[in-house]
Amino acid sequence: MMLDITFYGVRGSTPCSGHHVARYGGNTSCVVVSVPGEPPIICDLGTGLRYFGADVGRRPDSGPFRATALVTHLHWDHVQGLPFFAPVLDPAAQLEVIGPIQDDRSLEDAMCEAISPPMFPIPLADLPGRITFRELGRTCLSVGSAIVSVFDVPHVGPTNGYRIDAGRASVAYMSDFQQPIVDNGEPPVPPGVLDAIRGVDVLIHDAQYDHDEFATKATWGHCTVTYAVDVARAAGAKRLVLFHHDPLHDDEWIDRAVAEAADRADGAVEVMAAREGLVLRSETVGGEP
Ligand SMILES: [Zn+2]
Ligand SMILES: [Zn+2]
Repeated sequence: MMLDITFYGVRGSTPCSGHHVARYGGNTSCVVVSVPGEPPIICDLGTGLRYFGADVGRRPDSGPFRATALVTHLHWDHVQGLPFFAPVLDPAAQLEVIGPIQDDRSLEDAMCEAISPPMFPIPLADLPGRITFRELGRTCLSVGSAIVSVFDVPHVGPTNGYRIDAGRASVAYMSDFQQPIVDNGEPPVPPGVLDAIRGVDVLIHDAQYDHDEFATKATWGHCTVTYAVDVARAAGAKRLVLFHHDPLHDDEWIDRAVAEAADRADGAVEVMAAREGLVLRSETVGGEP
């Protein structure tokens, strides 16, 4: 079984551009996980999604577009790419959007409200392709030959994390993670999260802040690079991919963060930073070649 992971958007909060962020990229969260020969699984629909749409358009015709989207939560940086995703302009396209259970309305109503006049020129329902919505809390489901585990992640508002297992290859995606605020000692890892991601090949984890930034933004829903390493080590993950880079951070900042994270990982976990265009293939993440 093979599993490919392609990063189209790696930034948190808001898109950014310029030479200082050119190497890692400025689009917001969008990661495509695929078992070759099967419809893709899209983790979040940030502005990187538009570039995945362009890639789909360049492929030889393989029939109407089909995909499942796993949306962590509805903050702009995770859904803003949807109305700019060219494949859903085809009336034959089908996209199922899975997301967290909302507190006060349905997932579909919340998305339709966000993508509607006057904030967007047309209602979401007027896009030609068929887009359906499914709200899920903690559960497991099959998507093609992959098993997707859905679990709660602490953030601001209802937020899911996702683990995808295909054969012996596995990846977990937690884009935004509110680090526990503690007076003393190391912040703990929520047991539900730890159970869900244990032993995963690739852990894609929020790495928005350093210690000083966290001190002033402790309730903004994110964590430090250090905490991401500690989560990966506690879970026994093989590889940590630092993700959801702060738009204030230039390429050199992220280079330094990777070096510091590798020090803390101390060989127990391989550390790298997500960048646009990065592809991790199954032979490098475990599973059969
Ligand atoms: Zn975010
Ligand atoms: Zn968020």
